[in-house]
Amino acid sequence: MNETFPRPKVLVSRCLGFAACRYDGQILNNSLIEQLQPHVEMIPVCPETDCGLGIPRAPIRLCQAGEGFVVYQPATGREVTAQLQATIDSILTSHPQIDGAILKSKSPSCGLFDTKIYQGIDKPQFLKKGGGLFGEQVLLTFAGRSIEDEMRLTNFSLREHFLIKLYTLARFRHLSEHPEMGPLVAFHASHKLLFLAYNQSRFRLAGKIVANHGRLPAVEVFRLYREELLRILDAPLRIPGVINTLYHAFGWISEHLESVEKEYVINSIEEYRDERLPLQAVTRLIEAHSIRFGNQYLQQQVFLRPYPRALAGLSDSGRGREVH
Ligand code: SF4
Repeated sequence: MNETFPRPKVLVSRCLGFAACRYDGQILNNSLIEQLQPHVEMIPVCPETDCGLGIPRAPIRLCQAGEGFVVYQPATGREVTAQLQATIDSILTSHPQIDGAILKSKSPSCGLFDTKIYQGIDKPQFLKKGGGLFGEQVLLTFAGRSIEDEMRLTNFSLREHFLIKLYTLARFRHLSEHPEMGPLVAFHASHKLLFLAYNQSRFRLAGKIVANHGRLPAVEVFRLYREELLRILDAPLRIPGVINTLYHAFGWISEHLESVEKEYVINSIEEYRDERLPLQAVTRLIEAHSIRFGNQYLQQQVFLRPYPRALAGLSDSGRGREVH
């Protein structure tokens, strides 16, 4: 079993545990970010303080203005859109290689989906929820990367998906530094069960790209493969896809098992289906059998260990599996 993991690059809102830079001079501790820190390269940014708004500062508001937005500070009557945008531009161009981001929910700058947007500078009524000035541009600039806010990451399914995607993209980024067909074929093979669990038909399309019947240059194959990879990882794992993949993995070891052992594995998979057992418990069981029988194929499957085991203890209670 391969224990080597890449170190993903993650853009993170600085107020989430790195500095007391909120408008009120507060810092927010976040246990997920604390657990992640030894395993990822964090890039903390704070568009509001980096653009010179100061700490503490009067709160700002995101207001609709035609097709775009203005950022307004009601207490001072100042529009700060231009200075904030200049800092955002600088952040976005300084970190093109990120694998993901964890941003602060609801912030007029960092929010991704739930920032309050007001009707206008002179119309302080609530209009809708959407992305903050920075968050929206992070989603656009880094489309397909593993991007979430700290609130959504309290949902188990989203957190699991975030971690799997983050580490898969980081592995592929490393591979892309020296695009060669051999390592790409090995990457595809070791991710087979994971990608089957995510999206069977997309996995097969990715396989056709790797087969490279058109004899395209490796750089072009990597470009096409990356596009398909982002499609495969577009949505979180769904239980039916995971169940099929668990039975597929089971097929690799079942012939070696006593009937009572087979029954134990099958019962475990079914308990996962019924949300009575975490996925990690079932994959550990299959992994243990794969080690016992020296099954190299299963031991090389990322599906059994998609990210460092130290991150697997993030309270997989089984609750919050489905994304609503
Ligand atoms: S939400 Fe973003 S802009 Fe606001 S304090 Fe945190 S890092 Fe800074």
